[in-house]
This record gives sequence, structure tokens and C-alpha cells, in this order.
Amino acid sequence: MDLSRRHVLAVAAAAPLLQSQANAAAPIADKQAPSFYRYKVGDIQVTVVSDGRNTFPLEESFILNAKKEEVAAALEQAFLPRDMMTIYFAPLVINTGGKLVVIDTGTGPVAKANSKGANGLFADNMAAAGFDAKDVDLVVISHFHTDHVNGLLAADGTPAFPNAEVLVPVTEWKFWMDDGEMSRAPAGRMQGLFKNNRNIFEAALKKKVTPYEWGREVAPGLLAVDSIGHTPGHTSYVLSSGSGKVFIQSDVTNNPNPFATHPGWHAFFDQDADMAEKTRRRVYDMVVAEKLQVQGFHYPFPGLGNVVKDGDGYRVIPAPWNPSI
Ligand SMILES: [Zn+2]
Repeated sequence: MDLSRRHVLAVAAAAPLLQSQANAAAPIADKQAPSFYRYKVGDIQVTVVSDGRNTFPLEESFILNAKKEEVAAALEQAFLPRDMMTIYFAPLVINTGGKLVVIDTGTGPVAKANSKGANGLFADNMAAAGFDAKDVDLVVISHFHTDHVNGLLAADGTPAFPNAEVLVPVTEWKFWMDDGEMSRAPAGRMQGLFKNNRNIFEAALKKKVTPYEWGREVAPGLLAVDSIGHTPGHTSYVLSSGSGKVFIQSDVTNNPNPFATHPGWHAFFDQDADMAEKTRRRVYDMVVAEKLQVQGFHYPFPGLGNVVKDGDGYRVIPAPWNPSI
């Protein structure tokens, strides 16, 4: 004990001397590296491309059926700030060998300006990963929330992927393009979402989309599957090639802390909260049973992991960063 304490004191005393001898003039960096991460599923290459994150104060209204204090306690248990919530965003670029496919597009250039670069980074990070938006063949959309569709447009309002076919879930398309649904939607957030979707899909893309059904491949090796509740047409995917398989969950849960650990908590953004919970438990029981890797749009970057059952909830165990591909 005494010896180790003396050792620590000796190191502490020596440290300033060492620093003065080192090249201490290097500036302190204020930016993270452009964030993208590659891995393979059989012959298919997946590149997870970060769109950034959104951090905001935890409000009483964030989760409808849990008290703010309970949510704060869950965050603290995960070694996170108890009064702040962070949501990450990570679209995918998938190279099937024949097709370059983007799944979801991030919060878009307007959000990048408004958030001062905290999010809306998909286009920049995609370019940093060596991709040209003009080379994208297919853009597959999981559902019509702003963090998934707003990156369909460039800063000047023109299509961000000018040569791509845009694929949308048919049920999602019907809901958001239905004038009756729009007129019945509550004022505020839901009306705003309808307006945003009409602006993107009608005004900018002139309805040039290809609706797709569940149970079909939307791109080579990419099977679309129903995971409704978060929105009426919310879609997940099974990507498979050879013996490789990964479940691309989209928004079955948001950030695993606290939404995987507390699958019964209903966030304000789940449109049909009971159905979203049912889907969450069904999907997570399936990926646990099949030991299937999950790629999560809102998981902390790079968002690949496995799920284990933990009491009434689940825990996501991140896959180790692999320096080789
Ligand atoms: Zn989302």
C-alpha cells in the first residue's frame, strides 16, 4: 500500500517535467473523426454511416407511461447523464456487388444547419467513406419520420440521390399520402409530419417512388419485414448472404438505454404504442432465440450488436470494433 502510494506520488511529481519536455504545443481537437464503419455479411458489404446525434433535456412527457424519475434512474444505471437523453442516427450504405443501396437517409441538411452539425451529417460522412451520392442505385426507406426521410433532399431541395430509385413501404406510403388521414391528424407533431412528407414526396420527388410489400426482397439479399407500431408501415429488414445474416431493425427500439432495457415503456414517438411494444417483444424474443446480430438505426454508433434477455427486458451487447473487414 505504502509502496504503491509512493509510486503514484513519484509519477505525479515527475509528470510536469515530462510534459515540459514533450511536444505539448499540439492543439486540443474539437471534432471527432468522420464516422463510418464497415463489415461484411457474406459477400455483401455494409457501411454504417453516422448522421450524428440529438441530445436534449429529459422531459416528463418523453415516455408516456413512466415517470421522469424512473427514466432518469434507468439512464443513471447505464452510466448515462440522468437528466439528458441522446438519440443517435445511423443510415446504412450496402454494396451488394451489383447494387449500391442506401437504407434511410438521416435528418438532412436543414437539420445540420439548425443543430450546428450535431446531426444531418450523413451526406458528409458518406462522402468521407468514399461514396458518391450519384452512384446510389436504390434508396430504401423504413418509415416516414424526419430522421429517416429528410436526407432524401439536398440543401437546395433537389433529390440528394439523383440516379436512385426510392423504395417505400406500401402501407407507410398509403397512410401518409391519404388526405383523410392527414385531415384527421392531431395538430402539432403529427400535422407537421404529414406536411414534411408531402413536401418531400409530392413537391420534391413528384411521387416518383416504388412502393414495396413485406415478405419480398427489395434489393439482392435484403428482405423487408413487417415491424409495425412505431408507424403504421414501419419496416425492418433481414440482410443475408451465404451464411451471413443480420437483422436491420430500424426503430423497433430507439436507443437501447432505456428502450431495450424497458421494452414496456411507451415513447411519445411510437404512433401505436401498444402495437410497438408487441412488435418490440416479438422481434427481440426472435433475435435472442436465433442469436441474430442486430443493426440499430438509433443504437450508439456503429450500432451493431447482439441482444440478450434480462429480466422483463433486454440488453444489447455491442459487437467489438473490428479493425479488419
Ligand atoms: Zn428514427
